[in-house]
Amino acid sequence: MSSRQEAFERLRAACDSGQRWDVVVVGGGATGLGCAVDAASRGYTTLLVEAHDFAKGTSSRATKLIHGGVRYLAQGNLALVREALAERAVLLANAPHLVRPLRFVVPTYHWHQVPMLGAGLGFYDLLAGRHSLGRSRLLGRGATREALPGIREAGLHGGIAYWDAQFDDAALAVALARTISDLGSLAINYCRVEGLAKQGGQVVGIEARDAINGEGFSIAARSVINATGVWADELRGLDQPGRRAIIRPSQGVHLVVDADFLAGDDALLVPETDDGRVLFVIPWYGKLVIGTTDTPRDDLPLEPRALESEIDFILDTAGRYLTRAPGRGDVRSVFAGLRPLVGGDGGEQTARLSREHRVDVSDSGLVTITGGKWTTYRQMAIDAVDVAAARAGLPRRPSATLRRRLHGADSGDARRQLARVQAPPDDEAVRHAVGESLACTVEDVLARRHRTLFLDAGQAIDEAPRVARVMAEALGRPAAWVDEQIAAFSEIAAAYRVDGGSAGLGL
Ligand SMILES: Cc1cc2nc3c(=O)[nH]c(=O)nc-3n(C[C@H](O)[C@H](O)[C@H](O)COP(=O)(O)OP(=O)(O)OC[C@H]3O[C@@H](n4cnc5c(N)ncnc54)[C@H](O)[C@@H]3O)c2cc1C
Repeated sequence: MSSRQEAFERLRAACDSGQRWDVVVVGGGATGLGCAVDAASRGYTTLLVEAHDFAKGTSSRATKLIHGGVRYLAQGNLALVREALAERAVLLANAPHLVRPLRFVVPTYHWHQVPMLGAGLGFYDLLAGRHSLGRSRLLGRGATREALPGIREAGLHGGIAYWDAQFDDAALAVALARTISDLGSLAINYCRVEGLAKQGGQVVGIEARDAINGEGFSIAARSVINATGVWADELRGLDQPGRRAIIRPSQGVHLVVDADFLAGDDALLVPETDDGRVLFVIPWYGKLVIGTTDTPRDDLPLEPRALESEIDFILDTAGRYLTRAPGRGDVRSVFAGLRPLVGGDGGEQTARLSREHRVDVSDSGLVTITGGKWTTYRQMAIDAVDVAAARAGLPRRPSATLRRRLHGADSGDARRQLARVQAPPDDEAVRHAVGESLACTVEDVLARRHRTLFLDAGQAIDEAPRVARVMAEALGRPAAWVDEQIAAFSEIAAAYRVDGGSAGLGL
């Protein structure tokens, strides 16, 4: 029996016995998973349900940085930067298998950039205080070329190096899901919330459905946390129809190319592109991730696709900083994600909206947590669970996540983990993903248990038939399932190729 089937057995038994969960969390991205780990760490009986796969939404499509955020520093948002730098230290301690320090180099092409950038990054060190990962320092022209082999040399003056951290977002999500079960609670994927149960005008539970076999569940809860990211307004609407939307989605796009465009171990940061955005070129699992854009969107597709203009913008801008400019044919994968930005009055630029989070409680007691970023998921969770527990009258208990190491942190060797993800999964790894990591579809395995789709979409498409066959054997599925899975995955994966079109798969 897979770990997901076991989770459903427990859920069924809980429903049959009339169990009322202390905390039910809706949404299995960074925010919801963080909330469920937090609630479980306090000893509350906790259930998390995710409509698709863990991190299927925004949480697998990040720039993969655990960072204070140089951009937020420039915006003067010092409280957010300080909090994020402290959280960076917590994550490095609690998930050393998934998070690692990474050095960034900002190349300078004009003398006048140096004092401003130097002072800014010096201040970043200061804000990090005892959590600093190393002091920022000025680099000469030679040292900059050495740190960033492939950087455009014409006019290069020097650079400034500083430290932040990098992670694997989907792997961290799965580690959080497994930490929830380590704590004796339940996290279930492919289980969608379709309604809220109310009594006397108060939310007393959820109506959920197994998205794979259609079984429905009426689940009683003392508190319900809405952590559905850019989709948060949908659940708020189920709670109180006609409520004003609070989410302003903004699309961010990344391209993945081979590492030899910028060989070396350091990342490149351009703090201000021509149109005032930030550009990263980051080594990740043997490739380079280049991004990102910030484009307001009105729709909320589960598989957002990059606009042609976003791809061109990233290629053009990267090309201006690299000796060998990457072209469309060099792109191994393109992925887009929707930032769940909160608030704004229509006329505001989304790049300037707050990345800070917000916790709302409706009259009927639904707690909604929105905004924030991966780096601060743990603090966001503390705030949301504090509010939910107080509102539900649960016994007051402090969060116990500060020193809680996440699943897998003690079993090993970070380098082995890296090598495992870099290559497409072998048959054994596919069986492991199904049996231990709740993977249900070919996409779960090739996009999030392993990152093949994000690293090389063409290779992922080639691997899909084998992965489908091994999964079918492990899950006891018929031959027709194999064909369906290959077709479904190929359709999704086509959009990760630059020739894959530019609409949006509303799944
Ligand atoms: C391009 C980009 C780059 C970023 N880079 C970084 C970075 O480098 N570092 C950083 O710290 N942060 C970064 N962020 C921010 C960070 O990724 C997000 O803040 C975070 O992932 C949001 O997580 P979430 O759980 O709120 O949303 P999601 O991850 O979208 O999770 C919401 C989940 O709710 C589920 N759901 C929706 N409706 C239902 C329902 N009815 N029933 C059950 N489940 C439901 C969805 O399927 C989804 O999985 C980036 C964001 C973007 C867009």
